[in-house]
Amino acid sequence: MGALGHLASGPGFWPTASMTEFSAHHLVDLFRLFALRLAEARIDLGALDGAIGDADHGNSMAEGFAAVVRATLAAPQDLPGPLMAVAARSFLSAVGATTGPLYASALQAGSRRLGERASFGPEDVAALVGAFADGIAHRGNARPGDKTMMDVWFPAARAVAEAARSGASPLEQLRQAERAAAEGREATRAMIAAVGRAARLGPRSLGHVDPGAASAAILISALREWLEAQVGDPPMGRIG
Ligand SMILES: [Mg+2]
Repeated sequence: MGALGHLASGPGFWPTASMTEFSAHHLVDLFRLFALRLAEARIDLGALDGAIGDADHGNSMAEGFAAVVRATLAAPQDLPGPLMAVAARSFLSAVGATTGPLYASALQAGSRRLGERASFGPEDVAALVGAFADGIAHRGNARPGDKTMMDVWFPAARAVAEAARSGASPLEQLRQAERAAAEGREATRAMIAAVGRAARLGPRSLGHVDPGAASAAILISALREWLEAQVGDPPMGRIG
């Protein structure tokens, strides 16, 4: 790279992969994909919840993210971080019960991660997994093994952190998170619910996938799907 080497580190000068930047518009697009994938899973999530809860989880998640899309489309806000705070508030007003505050807290943590910057990058998209996990952990009282959404968010966040440490691209970090999320979702089958409505079933909750774990895995897959559509596979030999 020689004499140009020092210039390559300057922002906005050298065409590196990390220059891919997303705006508030992209964030609404991501929320649209969340809403779409959850709408497609609405019946299945309701059936999972029907087995161990009150069958409302599919409706809660699909309607919650539909409300997020409506609110963020209408919001006069072109900073991604504050727009995600709009998403948090709209999810909270649309969804009651346990799920509303948990994902509102997740989105609020995502908003803090994006801060007041005008744009965000692929690494921020991957880092949303950890931010959401932190936000949910901060609000909820479930621990790993309690058969909740945390049994997906914790291992997925750990997978992102480990992949990032080993130098994996943001897309690869999300692929690892998606694998960890799928394993975490399946692992809830062998767990006895310790918190929430399903805890009343005791051992009868065994053998059922937790609906919150299933919807968490859908969100993580959607993050991967969305980033993949934006950046694709890094071409061989790209600088940066
Ligand atoms: Mg329910």
